[in-house]
Amino acid sequence: MSNFKYVLKNENLQKTVIKVGETKIGEDFLLIAGPCSVEDINQVEEIAQSVKKSGANVLRGGAYKPRTSPYSFRGLGLQGLEYLRYAGQKVGLPIITEVCDTRDVETVAYYSDILQIGTRNMQNFSLLVEVGKTNRPVLLKRGIYSTIDEFLNSAEYIMNEGNQNVILCERGIRTVETEYTRNTLDLSTVALLKQITHLPVIVDPSHATGRADLIEPMCLSSVMAGCDGLEIEVHNSPDKALSDSEQQITPEEFSKMSTKIFKTVEFKKNL
Ligand code: PEP
Ligand code: MN
Repeated sequence: MSNFKYVLKNENLQKTVIKVGETKIGEDFLLIAGPCSVEDINQVEEIAQSVKKSGANVLRGGAYKPRTSPYSFRGLGLQGLEYLRYAGQKVGLPIITEVCDTRDVETVAYYSDILQIGTRNMQNFSLLVEVGKTNRPVLLKRGIYSTIDEFLNSAEYIMNEGNQNVILCERGIRTVETEYTRNTLDLSTVALLKQITHLPVIVDPSHATGRADLIEPMCLSSVMAGCDGLEIEVHNSPDKALSDSEQQITPEEFSKMSTKIFKTVEFKKNL
């Protein structure tokens, strides 16, 4: 194990609680929902309204999209940030969006309540340093090939700059399986991180599986593994989504699923 200064539980700190809007992350269950990408104002408003009704407490949506191919939809940029913030304010939800470039940190921090660092940037150390200098909570996603030690060291980079509000997110890692599922959800890491770190730990079942039909079982299993929250991609018309069409669920599916998620959270508490 590396020589960590900040991430591990210690006598003085067993649990970090991060207040965002009305939610005390780490104490209240965090349910982040919204589209993979912000596509237009009506899309994000419609989704925001329905996920809020279903109990989501943070709205997500990508404006700067890291894509494998440069020819795929790469997001609306600043316009996307404006749409997301407008929709969030309209329904009364704080927002989260990804920042990919050190040059955009100030702007994204101005618009967004939480900064997301994506899997591809988990070891972009200059980006980690920049978000570590802001006063916004940071959701750090595990790198697609990263060990637990590397993941925790990335959190250390952010915390070492003074920002202690880091949320860890397991979003699947690349294993032997590439055909049936997009990635492999590593739930043992969730349980382990809950043992050793005081930071909130959440799961993104959407990118972990790449399949809409696997989101529900992975959500419920993640809750049982001890996660503090979930980040789920929801789209009003998944077939027509400009990114990650296969893994997004409809607002109706999300509504049914969130009832089961909250029931499971209660069940787990009473075990
Ligand atoms: C996302 O959440 O929009 C995303 C791109 O996720 P990841 O970085 O985990 O692939
Ligand atoms: Mn996506």
